[in-house]
Amino acid sequence: MPLPIVAIVGRPNVGKSTLFNRLVGKRLALVDDMPGVTRDRREGDATLLGLEFRIVDTAGFEDEDPDTLPGRMRAQSEAAVGDADVALFLIDARAGVMPLDQSIARWLRQSDTPVIPIANKAEGKAGESGIIDAYSLGLGDPIPFSAEHGEGLVDLFEALRPYLEREDEDGPEEDDEILLEGDEPDGPLKLAIVGRPNAGKSTLINRMLGEDRLITGPEAGITRDSIAVEWMWKDRPVRLIDTAGLRRKAKVEDKLEKLSAADTQRSIDFAEVVVLLLDATRGLEAQDLRIAGQVLEEGRALIIAINKWDVAENPPSLFQGVRGALDEGLAQVKGLPVLTVSAETGRGIDQLIEASFKIRDEWSKRISTGQLNRWFEKAIEANPPPAPGGKRIKLRYLTQARTRPPSFILFGTRVDQLPESYRRYLINGIRRDLGFAGVPVRMTLRAPK
Ligand code: GDP
Ligand code: GDP
Repeated sequence: MPLPIVAIVGRPNVGKSTLFNRLVGKRLALVDDMPGVTRDRREGDATLLGLEFRIVDTAGFEDEDPDTLPGRMRAQSEAAVGDADVALFLIDARAGVMPLDQSIARWLRQSDTPVIPIANKAEGKAGESGIIDAYSLGLGDPIPFSAEHGEGLVDLFEALRPYLEREDEDGPEEDDEILLEGDEPDGPLKLAIVGRPNAGKSTLINRMLGEDRLITGPEAGITRDSIAVEWMWKDRPVRLIDTAGLRRKAKVEDKLEKLSAADTQRSIDFAEVVVLLLDATRGLEAQDLRIAGQVLEEGRALIIAINKWDVAENPPSLFQGVRGALDEGLAQVKGLPVLTVSAETGRGIDQLIEASFKIRDEWSKRISTGQLNRWFEKAIEANPPPAPGGKRIKLRYLTQARTRPPSFILFGTRVDQLPESYRRYLINGIRRDLGFAGVPVRMTLRAPK
């Protein structure tokens, strides 16, 4: 059964080789220069979260005279795309859409092969406008991606899957790759907004609701401790918790200058996703890190939103500062999503809700044991566990026991002697390679009986 074929196309320097290498991984050594196939065409067997396919890259044209590039590239790429089940069209989100991208898009639009547009180099904020630009290519929604950092792999997986799955007897495993479970995974998004006093929580909630419902809402049904408000965001229900602290604040204006730890805890208990709101005029403070730690400790998905972005001074350095302080202060979860919003103007709020839905999916996701162990074998091969006192720790396999949050069990002998740093290595790898960015991931160790 031949593998389905995926072609990578795009102008030079957009990151095609980087993507190719990421998908082919270690098997790059096996990349074959098939006789009869043009020397410039690189092919390899790729896996992405358990999906297996043959990938064809049209790299190698970078050396050509740029003047003649479009013509040459078109002939080569047309052949590759014509043979493929689906094509990945890369653009550089940092550079934006260039004339050459447009001319490639023009002929791709006429091709019979389905095309998935990918806005590469989209890590951080520098790619934002390029991603929006990429919609103009007329090839559907672009996937924000970073080949270099491995961001967007789950979205790519989701986009590829319909084209690559075959209805043969061997293939059904892929159907189980991503499953949601737990209580009503598609039910209302249970969202809580926490943060220091004056970060802008009330303003944000009112802005989300589009009116002063929170402050003026009917008293009936409001419990002493909290009030939940449900509304539809683009046809999807969102249920937001407002704690007593917020409610009282709205009523008694300034009496309330602190959000108590108990209020925060109540919000966290209720929520699937917690947004920690920071104040751009103050940056990240110790109390914020403490709240973030509390959220992760409870196993909730966490998003950091820097509010009052409209009045931020030196936004890039503020953003970098927050990012750096988070990675340092919350070493257990690298890569937390950080968004910027203005509750006052409404900017960034749609993206915030969108990101909340997305991280809930990741938080609820299940990775099959087969896929997990394909990853696991590579991870322990790349960095074998230590041998304390000369005795090898033998790690056998990994399984995902729970979702919401994702929890894994690692089986092996002498695992009680496994250093914490090695457990971290595996957890970070799972988060990075299997699409759990910013989600608390748990792992317990167990020796076979
Ligand atoms: P190709 O010519 O399309 O095959 O592009 P390459 O894969 O050779 O990448 C071109 C340059 O872009 C290299 O310097 C890569 O390191 C860089 N690059 C590739 N992917 C990313 C990415 O996701 N983010 C950033 N910032 N740079 C990237
Ligand atoms: P809470 O204590 O976290 O609920 O904060 P509030 O919603 O009461 O906001 C505190 C102050 O910050 C108020 O004066 C708001 O008008 C102001 N504020 C909230 N969001 C923004 C914003 O996005 N930009 C600016 N410039 N001010 C904001």
